Amino acid sequence: MTLSSHVETHKPSATTSRFTSDDEILAAVSRVRETFDSGITRPLDWRERELRQLQRMVEDNEEEFLEALHKDLGKCRMEGVIAETGFIVNEIKLTLKNLRKWAKPERVKVPVAVMPGKAYIVREPLGPVLIISPWNYPFQLLISPLTGAIAAGNTAVLKPSEVAPATSAAVAKLLPRYLDASAYVVVEGGVAETTTLLAQRFEHIFYTGNGAVARVVMTAAARHLTPVTLELGGKSPCIVDEHADLDITAKRIMWGKFFNTGQTCVAPDYLLVHESIHDALLDKFERTLQHFYGADPQASADYGRIVNERHFDRLLPLLDSGTLVAGGKSERASRYIAPTILRDVSPDSPVMEDEIFGPILPVLRVSNVDEAIRFVNARAKPLALYVFTNDKDTAERVLSRTSSGGACVNDVVAHLGVPELPFGGVGPSGMGAYHGWHSFDTFSHKKSVLDKSIHLDAPLRYPPYGDNKLKWIKRLL
Ligand code: NAD
Repeated sequence: MTLSSHVETHKPSATTSRFTSDDEILAAVSRVRETFDSGITRPLDWRERELRQLQRMVEDNEEEFLEALHKDLGKCRMEGVIAETGFIVNEIKLTLKNLRKWAKPERVKVPVAVMPGKAYIVREPLGPVLIISPWNYPFQLLISPLTGAIAAGNTAVLKPSEVAPATSAAVAKLLPRYLDASAYVVVEGGVAETTTLLAQRFEHIFYTGNGAVARVVMTAAARHLTPVTLELGGKSPCIVDEHADLDITAKRIMWGKFFNTGQTCVAPDYLLVHESIHDALLDKFERTLQHFYGADPQASADYGRIVNERHFDRLLPLLDSGTLVAGGKSERASRYIAPTILRDVSPDSPVMEDEIFGPILPVLRVSNVDEAIRFVNARAKPLALYVFTNDKDTAERVLSRTSSGGACVNDVVAHLGVPELPFGGVGPSGMGAYHGWHSFDTFSHKKSVLDKSIHLDAPLRYPPYGDNKLKWIKRLL
């Protein structure tokens, strides 16, 4: 079942027009609840079949998804495969390989006072869940949580981002052809449709996007006491100390910052660079950019575009926040902003206020790593933190004295490529985490079960108590 209109009716950032009526949304929500209540999503065979179908959907239609991503974001094939289609296929394969192990009841010890009996934790599906995703990785961030939701035996309503309309339409068209349409429903649309969805009761809401909307989501969830996972953003710092390998540092930072045109929640937002290597590193950045995208990045097939005019207009004034080292050029008609590096940036400048979420990298000097740590700790806890250094003690000092959702030493963004690592924020950068087993965990309830034997029934716990029983109980506890 798909509740979508055709792609031609979509306008980028059309957040007010309705794509799906309230009645259709309510019918969809009741349908996934009825399907869950029927119990068909619980058997592992059924979940595995749906996961294999999901994998088939991605593999059979990879070209169509990559084209949609290119239309929405100018995303090149390589970045589309790495971070969207290929990423998802890997995630599904990992889930299929491990699902039976993850779903096994987990035995735990029973204390003497409770013996004889067996105690175990059962992974129970939560029920119908709502997945709301953003536009920057519009395929991955919708289908990756869905993978966990299916694996854990739930039904789901998916709300792709209206800001990436081509990807939203492709998913709405193709997903019902592969998955059980009574269990998984795509509701396309913007604020109005999401508001209607949020008024319904779900057993979990998985939201990826910005902190302001996260507050709306959490408030709506509170009405039904629905638990939430919030995958948010923030300003992820990147510290480069005097002992870093500058060639590798330059390549990795330039790659992670300008991948998807800087529209990545874990992109290094700003740099804190030791003053002794500051100029040499900037020099290497310039040369690396030339090597990656040529003299004119606008002509490079590997460099994307800003998602829409609203974001282009938001980013443009930030180009004046410092002295240009590279980039600075822009073209509104094609939503192009060159990979831009700024030096001599004041901590109070506009580019240092909110998450940049675009291809602009402010570089600030620090005189030692403790100054960088103080700078980071004076701000909101970020989604990611990066430190480049060849000194183990420095890396350890940064990691142990700061708090962030995730972190890399001598790399950026790449921790997302390790599916065993939980992906999520801390404080204002989010709550909860997912990927691999962690997705299965997020979408499951851990039910505690004690299965008591009736062959022995010690009278100790029953009244009348008396001093003698109390003495024994104290020994057993
Ligand atoms: P967006 O505008 O696509 O919004 C996200 C979702 O929220 C969409 O589905 C949209 O329809 C819905 N929405 C928007 N306004 C709403 C409202 N008033 N009420 C209900 N629903 C509403 O995406 P965005 O928020 O611009 O995404 C960018 C942000 O997401 C950045 O802060 C980025 O760091 C963060 N992000 C985080 C992760 C992560 O995994 N932690 C990944 C990607 C992006």
